[in-house]
Amino acid sequence: MPEDSNNGGGRVAARATGVSRKVDDLGRIVLPAELRRSFDIREGDHIDIAVEEDRIILSKRRSVCTFCGSAEGLRVYREHQVCASCLGELKRF
Ligand SMILES: [Zn+2]
Repeated sequence: MPEDSNNGGGRVAARATGVSRKVDDLGRIVLPAELRRSFDIREGDHIDIAVEEDRIILSKRRSVCTFCGSAEGLRVYREHQVCASCLGELKRF
């Protein structure tokens, strides 16, 4: 297949949003409100940044326990999410 990598390798094709943003003097861009709404991105959320060939991919950081991957009863300790169950085990140390 020619250079169109969107359809290769079983990936879901990227969907253009029709929106563009200017980068400001500090390198920042504003995520359009409608995208923030549909991805449930709020002030203070962490966005993970990945690169794929010539693309930059932004993903909302998934809230899961650092140790077991659970999403139940998460607490944050020094930037790490820890679930109630792992927290209980840690307390026994
Ligand atoms: Zn856990």
